[in-house]
Amino acid sequence: MAAQPRGSRGRGRPVILVMYAACMRNHAIPLGSYAVDGCGEFLPTGVDGTPEAVLCAACNCHRNFHQRVEMEIPPPPPRRRAPRAARRANLAADFPPPPTTPPQARWN
Ligand SMILES: [Zn+2]
Repeated sequence: MAAQPRGSRGRGRPVILVMYAACMRNHAIPLGSYAVDGCGEFLPTGVDGTPEAVLCAACNCHRNFHQRVEMEIPPPPPRRRAPRAARRANLAADFPPPPTTPPQARWN
Protein backbone atom coordinates (compact mmCIF):
# COMPACT_ATOMS: atom_id res chain seq x y z
CA MET A 1 0.00 0.00 0.00
CA ALA A 2 1.35 3.40 -0.96
CA ALA A 3 2.18 5.87 1.76
CA GLN A 4 -0.06 8.87 1.77
CA PRO A 5 0.79 12.19 3.41
CA ARG A 6 -1.19 12.79 6.57
CA GLY A 7 -4.06 15.16 6.32
CA SER A 8 -3.77 15.27 2.55
CA ARG A 9 -7.03 15.49 0.73
CA GLY A 10 -5.50 15.87 -2.70
CA ARG A 11 -6.15 19.60 -2.93
CA GLY A 12 -3.46 22.15 -3.66
CA ARG A 13 -0.81 19.51 -4.32
CA PRO A 14 0.73 18.79 -7.71
CA VAL A 15 -0.36 15.56 -9.37
CA ILE A 16 2.44 13.26 -10.51
CA LEU A 17 1.61 11.60 -13.80
CA VAL A 18 3.73 8.51 -14.46
CA MET A 19 4.24 7.23 -18.01
CA TYR A 20 6.48 4.52 -19.40
CA ALA A 21 8.32 5.27 -22.63
CA ALA A 22 10.78 3.23 -24.71
CA CYS A 23 11.71 -0.31 -23.72
CA MET A 24 15.38 -0.57 -22.72
CA ARG A 25 15.57 -4.33 -22.27
CA ASN A 26 18.75 -5.75 -23.71
CA HIS A 27 17.75 -8.73 -25.83
CA ALA A 28 21.32 -9.44 -26.93
CA ILE A 29 22.85 -10.30 -23.54
CA PRO A 30 23.48 -13.96 -24.57
CA LEU A 31 25.48 -12.66 -27.50
CA GLY A 32 27.42 -10.23 -25.34
CA SER A 33 26.01 -7.30 -27.23
CA TYR A 34 23.29 -4.68 -26.82
CA ALA A 35 20.01 -4.60 -28.77
CA VAL A 36 16.61 -3.28 -27.81
CA ASP A 37 13.30 -4.40 -29.29
CA GLY A 38 12.33 -0.94 -30.49
CA CYS A 39 9.14 -0.70 -28.46
CA GLY A 40 8.51 3.01 -28.03
CA GLU A 41 5.87 3.08 -25.33
CA PHE A 42 4.55 0.74 -22.65
CA LEU A 43 1.06 -0.53 -23.37
CA PRO A 44 -0.43 -2.59 -20.53
CA THR A 45 -1.70 -6.02 -21.50
CA GLY A 46 -4.32 -6.18 -18.73
CA VAL A 47 -6.29 -3.84 -16.55
CA ASP A 48 -4.89 -2.31 -13.34
CA GLY A 49 -4.65 -4.75 -10.47
CA THR A 50 -4.01 -7.81 -12.62
CA PRO A 51 -0.55 -9.37 -13.20
CA GLU A 52 -0.92 -8.59 -16.90
CA ALA A 53 -1.05 -4.86 -16.13
CA VAL A 54 2.76 -4.77 -15.84
CA LEU A 55 3.40 -6.63 -19.11
CA CYS A 56 3.73 -4.64 -22.32
CA ALA A 57 1.26 -5.69 -25.00
CA ALA A 58 3.67 -4.57 -27.73
CA CYS A 59 6.97 -6.20 -26.69
CA ASN A 60 5.85 -8.55 -23.87
CA CYS A 61 8.48 -7.12 -21.51
CA HIS A 62 7.89 -6.14 -17.89
CA ARG A 63 7.01 -2.50 -17.31
CA ASN A 64 10.27 -1.99 -15.38
CA PHE A 65 12.26 -2.34 -18.60
CA HIS A 66 10.55 0.78 -19.96
CA GLN A 67 11.83 4.26 -19.23
CA ARG A 68 9.83 5.79 -16.42
CA VAL A 69 8.75 9.35 -17.16
CA GLU A 70 7.21 11.44 -14.39
CA MET A 71 5.36 14.63 -15.12
CA GLU A 72 4.29 17.02 -12.42
CA ILE A 73 0.99 18.68 -13.09
CA PRO A 74 0.61 21.79 -10.94
CA PRO A 75 -2.65 22.15 -9.05
CA PRO A 76 -5.17 24.56 -10.50
CA PRO A 77 -5.16 27.99 -8.87
CA PRO A 78 -7.78 28.44 -6.17
CA ARG A 79 -11.03 29.69 -7.61
CA ARG A 80 -12.10 32.93 -6.06
CA ARG A 81 -14.80 35.22 -7.29
CA ALA A 82 -13.54 38.69 -7.96
CA PRO A 83 -15.45 41.58 -6.43
CA ARG A 84 -18.22 42.93 -8.64
CA ALA A 85 -16.37 46.20 -9.41
CA ALA A 86 -13.25 44.29 -10.50
CA ARG A 87 -15.33 42.07 -12.76
CA ARG A 88 -16.84 45.16 -14.42
CA ALA A 89 -13.33 46.62 -14.90
CA ASN A 90 -12.13 43.38 -16.52
CA LEU A 91 -15.11 43.35 -18.83
CA ALA A 92 -14.40 46.93 -19.85
CA ALA A 93 -10.75 46.04 -20.50
CA ASP A 94 -11.74 43.08 -22.67
CA PHE A 95 -14.03 45.21 -24.83
CA PRO A 96 -12.54 48.69 -25.21
CA PRO A 97 -14.84 51.33 -26.61
CA PRO A 98 -14.63 51.78 -30.38
CA PRO A 99 -12.16 54.44 -31.50
CA THR A 100 -13.78 57.79 -31.94
CA THR A 101 -13.15 59.23 -35.38
CA PRO A 102 -14.33 62.64 -36.33
CA PRO A 103 -17.29 62.52 -38.71
CA GLN A 104 -16.19 63.10 -42.25
CA ALA A 105 -18.13 65.37 -44.51
CA ARG A 106 -18.46 63.38 -47.72
CA TRP A 107 -21.09 65.35 -49.63
CA ASN A 108 -19.53 68.76 -49.84
ZN1 LIG B 1 10.44 -4.60 -24.55
